Amino acid sequence: MDNSATTAVAPEVLEAMLPYFEELYGNASSLHAFGREARAGMEEARERVASLIRAEPEEVYFTSGGTESDNLALKGIALRNRAKGRHIITTSIEHPAVLEVCRGLEALGFEVTYLPVTREGLVEPAALEKAIGPETILISVMHANNEVGTIQPLKEIGEIAKEKEIYFHSDAVQTAGKIPLDAESLGLDLASISGHKLYGPKGVGALYVRKGTKIESIIQGGGHERSLRSGTENVPGIVGLGQACALAEESMVEEAERLTRYRDGMIDFVLSHVDDSWLNGHPRERLPSNVNLGFGKVEGESLLLYLDAKGIAVSTGSACSSRKLQPSHVLTAIGLGPERCHGSLRITLGRYNTEEEVDYASSAIVEAAERFSQISAIR
Ligand code: PLP
Repeated sequence: MDNSATTAVAPEVLEAMLPYFEELYGNASSLHAFGREARAGMEEARERVASLIRAEPEEVYFTSGGTESDNLALKGIALRNRAKGRHIITTSIEHPAVLEVCRGLEALGFEVTYLPVTREGLVEPAALEKAIGPETILISVMHANNEVGTIQPLKEIGEIAKEKEIYFHSDAVQTAGKIPLDAESLGLDLASISGHKLYGPKGVGALYVRKGTKIESIIQGGGHERSLRSGTENVPGIVGLGQACALAEESMVEEAERLTRYRDGMIDFVLSHVDDSWLNGHPRERLPSNVNLGFGKVEGESLLLYLDAKGIAVSTGSACSSRKLQPSHVLTAIGLGPERCHGSLRITLGRYNTEEEVDYASSAIVEAAERFSQISAIR
């Protein structure tokens, strides 16, 4: 139940990939039959990724994953458009793959605005509009947050960006294949996708780049991916990503409905059984898979270890860094103090979770919370 961290490779995905490790192992740049077969697999995958996000295949560039896609989007736009301006707008709840790139760009002389969010984790389009200045060249707002699951009002932000003629990027790593992601109707110029979050393999991803977008490559070499991303293509991975996107397109609606039902059942059950517990993130504008609960009297780590012993994998709102428990930047941004941050638990449901598993986990969470609150020092 930690599907936002990663997902299992779908059996159909593995099956589609295997021939590309065996007989179809050609280099997609080779002109002979082996190369042509590899390229054909890759181009079919490009069409499948494009179809999922309602883009054109030539607007899809393959990368090594979400982190690289975010790096390419931000650095690529910043470097290519710096003569136009040096200001970037993002949010305080982005993934480190965006936030750390922004810090790096600040060191290169760019100015970055980190927008605050509401208690429910929403960016306010009016505040974003206010932050735009003559130097603004890029807006980067994630589609849904990986910790609290809040889905951002991208359509409204896209309209603002379009009107002001500013490039608009979204880290869609947590949403691609989970909820509709229509690049055109959201007004996106760039969007990051990662294979391993949607039942594809790790180490492969894609960046959507709208036709005509001025972007510079950050990995130079042999000119692969139309010179935007050099390096011999990871054909098996790319084929797997394509298959994962095709499966997601087929099952997304049914899966989202089912997971939303599980999600809401789990939230209601835990909140009605545990005193001083609450939901982090937005109650409705929320990923179908995401349950992020706060507990006033219990530490998330204790719950995590208890659940782990019962075979249930979840995560907490704290990142262990330099042997010190740092409160999550996302929970801090939605207004929780350090103590409340440490009492949080993230459960992220996925395609292969059953209703029985969700019930089992819900009961185990309640049981653990009751047990630990009796011996808790936080009162
Ligand atoms: N962006 C978000 C929102 C994520 O959740 C993640 C993964 O945790 C990433 C980017 C990084 O993706 P990858 O693991 O493919 O590098």
